[in-house]
Amino acid sequence: MPLSPDSPLFSPPPEGSTPCLVQVAVHTPVHSGVGGLLSYTCATPLLPGTLVRVPLGTRELLGVVWEQAEQAEALAPEQLKPVRSVLQGLPPLSASWRRLVGFAAQYYQRSLGEIALTALPPALKDMTAEQLAKRLAPPKPKKLSKKAQAALAAEQATPTAHAEASGAVTTECIALSAEQQSVCVQMDQHPGPFLLYGATGSGKTEVYLQRVQQALEADPQAQALVMVPEINLTPQLLSRFTARFAPLFGPQAVVSMHSGMTNPQRLKNWLAGHSGQARVLLGTRMAVFASLPGLKVIVVDEEHDPSYKQQEGARYSARDLALWRGRAEGAQVILGSATPSLESWHASEPESSGGPGRYLRLHMPSRIGAAELPRVRLVDMRQQPKRTVFSPPLLAAITERVQRGEQALVLLNRRGFAPVLFCADCNWKSDCPHCSAHQVFHKGDRTLRCHHCGFTQRVPHACPECGNPDILPLGKGTEQLEEELARLLRNVQRPDGEPARVGRIDADTTRLKGALEQQLEQVHSGEIDVLVGTQMVAKGHDFRRITLVAAVQPDGALFSSDFRAPERLFCLLMQAAGRAGRDGSYVAAQGSRPEMWVQTHEPEHAVFQALRSHDYPRFAGQQLRERQDAGMPPFAFQALVRADAKTQETAQAFLRAASEAAQQGQLPHLDAVFLFPPIPMAMQRVADVERAQMLIEATDRRALLRFLHAWQPWLHWLRSQPAHKGLVRWLVDVDPQSL
Ligand code: ADP
Ligand code: ZN
Ligand code: ZN
Repeated sequence: MPLSPDSPLFSPPPEGSTPCLVQVAVHTPVHSGVGGLLSYTCATPLLPGTLVRVPLGTRELLGVVWEQAEQAEALAPEQLKPVRSVLQGLPPLSASWRRLVGFAAQYYQRSLGEIALTALPPALKDMTAEQLAKRLAPPKPKKLSKKAQAALAAEQATPTAHAEASGAVTTECIALSAEQQSVCVQMDQHPGPFLLYGATGSGKTEVYLQRVQQALEADPQAQALVMVPEINLTPQLLSRFTARFAPLFGPQAVVSMHSGMTNPQRLKNWLAGHSGQARVLLGTRMAVFASLPGLKVIVVDEEHDPSYKQQEGARYSARDLALWRGRAEGAQVILGSATPSLESWHASEPESSGGPGRYLRLHMPSRIGAAELPRVRLVDMRQQPKRTVFSPPLLAAITERVQRGEQALVLLNRRGFAPVLFCADCNWKSDCPHCSAHQVFHKGDRTLRCHHCGFTQRVPHACPECGNPDILPLGKGTEQLEEELARLLRNVQRPDGEPARVGRIDADTTRLKGALEQQLEQVHSGEIDVLVGTQMVAKGHDFRRITLVAAVQPDGALFSSDFRAPERLFCLLMQAAGRAGRDGSYVAAQGSRPEMWVQTHEPEHAVFQALRSHDYPRFAGQQLRERQDAGMPPFAFQALVRADAKTQETAQAFLRAASEAAQQGQLPHLDAVFLFPPIPMAMQRVADVERAQMLIEATDRRALLRFLHAWQPWLHWLRSQPAHKGLVRWLVDVDPQSL
């Protein structure tokens, strides 16, 4: 329902006096060409950052008042429409928030309005004024029962009561390790940004907690932004932050923000940040745009994670924006990782060793509590019979762990039962009719499902081509691995005499709300002995009793055409290894040793060799040298222009025309950028759309951005030409994360 102008929160502008001109950012489709601000009139001047409702065509839209653009529109006020209503009650969005939006729009080549409006909670756009009024009204003091009053009084008397009552560990008097202490001291003495390079389990999260606490205690208005790559990591971190800060700063002090929330929840938490009431906002990439007037600290946990890059609409990097925002707002930025991105590793190479020294690199090599990093064992699969899924030594190792009451994690980055069904008689494969991909066989519900477009069919009883009833699953997915492990371990018993239990966590098992939490709880409580999972469980989780992690088929990533594939694989395996043996005293009491097993056909590969020695710096150094020699990021800057069309030829024709237009239009910095010829994307067809891309590279970032900026109008113009009628869409991706 649209906001109603006659609500008390929306006062129609007073009549009479000469109207003022206001510039308003509204969300118009970026490809319509209306990219900038729209002009309206208003009876009274409005502060920039004020939210308004404005007419556009036949619609009424939410907009943000912006500062007057330099070349203000030539239209006379009488030709402009008036602002419909002004959203009262909300303080205007700050100048620094608007600068962040402005920067992001410019950098990622999107319209200001698009970034501004997608950064606001969706509920603001279409909730009724009454609902908003209710949100903004101060909560009515509830009448408490005598018992509740007594409980509250007791709780206020003992500051840690919250944490204890909720079963969380009280970490009030936690003594920092020497490494943590040294890191904190350096963070006191330096403005940052910092790259906290700490082994998995070295206590990075504890450092974040300390830094945030210090900032919040120093200034009653201070706020912190803590970002995690994926929603599934928010619950655990949220409970750690809440357990620590609710007793100190009140139960409302920590709020979260991610795409798994309902719109009303997201609005509520956004308002808590905007009003300053929330002191800590914990969220996924979208949180980087949250309005936080008192922002003093920004943490980007697992900063290397590709999930920080938005892959739809405005393709921004939340990590990079966090760095920009920190600098612009004077907030300290901490990037944390056990396997930093090569970009951040390079940026934190000290000046003394010839690097740019843009971030201060701080190292925490040791795990907390004398926990040791897992020993890495490579199994050479060339020595194993063909089609071996679990090599005998790995199976024996898992069995032994289960018999000792320990847990194991088996990692395979492919869900479903088998990636494809196959007919040996006629070579039929279960290809998706709409994509250049196979349909994955899901045994549980007997379906063939395309993981790219979602197209789903029942499994055929016989080969659709030749009628052969004997069609076979080819390759393994997590569903099959779970089944196979359960069979292999069927006679294995835990110390309590119970049979070994195998569980699985992946996108299929966690579709329902709350399912992931429940399944993780089964792991934490020891109900499951062997967990099979995708990368979803490889990162971040603080499992206490897992002592063995195995990657059974990681080789696929080595053959990718993307130059970042080795880096990705190395990170994933290091992260996965980091799930083993996190609790040093548990491991010692068990008389056990944590292990990371990798089954591979290429044990000599640099990725596995570096993994074996836990030697990230060596791996990073070698990768960076290769990139420097090849002139690739971070030594060069890239953008992709992508075109989608019904046919590959149409898509490529658009890109070729765009390239020619750039040459003929004599665009600025043309000599500083290199335009590669258009090629089909690796995933060439998705949902019946053909996709092509063109890479643009430059050694000078500013030149690249200026070039792209000047190119945009040409791309819009080309799009409108009859020759390119068949084009479905085009888009620009600055600093693309996958090629
Ligand atoms: P990371 O984020 O580097 O993986 P965590 O911060 O999760 O590491 O720490 C690993 C484990 O060690 C957690 O269970 C945490 O509670 C504990 N821990 C962290 N710092 C300390 C400390 N100084 N003393 C005792 N335990 C700690
Ligand atoms: Zn067949
Ligand atoms: Zn498909």
